[in-house]
Amino acid sequence: MAPRVNDMNEGLLFVFSAPSGTGKSTILNKVVNEDPNIEYSVSATTRLPRKGETDGKDYFFLDRETFIDNIKHDMMLEYDIYCNNYYGTLKNAVEEPMKNGIDIILEITVPGALQVKKIYPDCIMVFIAPPDLKELERRIRRRGTEDDYVIQKRLQRAAEEMKYINQYDYVVINDDLNKAVNEVKQLIIENRKKRRNINHDE
Ligand code: 5GP
Repeated sequence: MAPRVNDMNEGLLFVFSAPSGTGKSTILNKVVNEDPNIEYSVSATTRLPRKGETDGKDYFFLDRETFIDNIKHDMMLEYDIYCNNYYGTLKNAVEEPMKNGIDIILEITVPGALQVKKIYPDCIMVFIAPPDLKELERRIRRRGTEDDYVIQKRLQRAAEEMKYINQYDYVVINDDLNKAVNEVKQLIIENRKKRRNINHDE
């Protein structure tokens, strides 16, 4: 697919990746709740909802057949198979709000992020890393939502994903929640300023 050149009035696209259990949702929820100009793109997944998750808010929970149908009908911007489930970004969850000048946050796996980068070369890629893998394991176990087999798979995948850190524009280490939130807010401000400067120079 040809790279998509951003219109200067469009919203910015922030692509976040982080191993499961890094605390990225906690960080990004804080950022999104305090900023009316940035929104999450709600992804689709075939994973079952966790306790407290709502369809259409946390994810669009789809069966495999529907998900694969969406791929066939070219409705996905990117998708990936993660721990035996499909996860993907719906094109219209990104394109419409961006056209209306809203900045968008994707929270997706590394392979998904690399697919998006090809389509939106101007996107801002951010990796949220745990202080170390031992701490990551403690956090996933404390969450208590996955069984041992899935925890092992998630840890393996985390180790693999950390190898791609150098593909990202920013790395935020989540050893202190407030510090991590501030770093994310700061990088958003920085990129909005950059965008404004580019517009003024034209
Ligand atoms: P969880 O099951 O913990 O909600 O998510 C598992 C992984 O899937 C996380 O790394 C999360 O960032 C990723 N993920 C969530 N939505 C998407 C998506 O739309 N596309 C891709 N590629 N990964 C996603």
